[in-house]
Amino acid sequence: MTIYFIDGQFTEKDGVKISIDDRGYYFGDGVYEVIKVYNGELYTAEEHMTRLFQSASKIKLAIPHTERQLIEIAEELVKKNEIDTGHVYMQVTRGATQRLHHFPETNVSPVVTAYAILNPRPLTNLKDGVATKTVDDIRWLRCDIKSLNLLGNVMAKQEAHEAECAEAIFVRDGIVMEGSSSNMFGVKGGVVYTHPATNLILNGITRRVVMQLCADLGIQVEEKEFTTEEAFEMDEFIMTSTTAEVTPVISIDGKQIGSGAPGPITMKLQEAFAKQLPLAVIGKG
Ligand SMILES: *Cc1c(COP(=O)(O)O)cnc(C)c1O
Repeated sequence: MTIYFIDGQFTEKDGVKISIDDRGYYFGDGVYEVIKVYNGELYTAEEHMTRLFQSASKIKLAIPHTERQLIEIAEELVKKNEIDTGHVYMQVTRGATQRLHHFPETNVSPVVTAYAILNPRPLTNLKDGVATKTVDDIRWLRCDIKSLNLLGNVMAKQEAHEAECAEAIFVRDGIVMEGSSSNMFGVKGGVVYTHPATNLILNGITRRVVMQLCADLGIQVEEKEFTTEEAFEMDEFIMTSTTAEVTPVISIDGKQIGSGAPGPITMKLQEAFAKQLPLAVIGKG
C-alpha cells in the first residue's frame, strides 16, 4: 500500500480527506516539485526545495515548514515506500476555505501533499531519442514559477501526444522557449544554446546541471534565444528534466534534426550526467 504525506500526516491514500475547498482544487493556487530518486537517494533535493520556496514566495505563499523538514518528509516517503528508482512529487496549496479569489485570512494553513513512486530511468528514449512538436506558447508571463496551474502545459502535451510526439516545444513570437515540462537545448557548430532563464521559462534544475557539465567538459554554452527555423537547422537538439534527464530530440515537427540520431555532444553530456548520479551501477535503470 502506498504511503502518502497529506497535510501533516503519513497515511494510506484511501483514508485521506482533502477538502473540496482546497484552493489547489479551485484555482490551481499552489506550487510543486518533482525530485528524482536514484538508488533510494534523492537527487539535487536542496536545489528543488530552494526552488519550491522561491515559487511559493513569488505567489506570496508562506510554506509552514523549513526546506530541511520537507526534504526529511521526502526521504521518509522514499523509505516507507521502498523506492529504489523513482521520484517524489510534492505540492503546497494555499489551503482550504470558502471559494473567494483573494487570499484567505491568515488562520488558513497551506496544505502540503506528497508521495513517492517507482519510475525507471527512460533508457529507451535516452538511447534512441524522441520526436517533438512545436506549439504556440499561450501560457501566462510567469513561467518561472512552478505553479499548479498547468492548463497551457496540459493542452500542449496533449497536442504533442496526439501527434505521437514525446514532448511539445513552446514557441512564443517565433522563439523557442522550453518544453511543456522540460527545457530545450540546441547544438550548432559545437556551441550549446538554450533560452535565458527569464520569466518566460522554468529554470530547470536539470538545465542548470547540464550547463555546469558543459562548463566542466569545456563545451561552450550560451543562454541565447533562437527561432524555430534555427532549431530545425541545429546539429543536435536536447530536452532536459528531472525525469527525462538528457534526452536527445531527433525530430521537430516531423523534420529530422542533424543525423536523426543522438549526436556526439548529446552523448557526452548523457555520459557526464550519468556519472554524477547516485547510481549503484552506472547505466543501470
Ligand atoms: C519542471 C519543469 C521543467 C524542468 O525542470 P527540472 O527541474 O529540470 O525538472 C521545465 N519546464 C517546465 C515548464 C517545468 O514545469
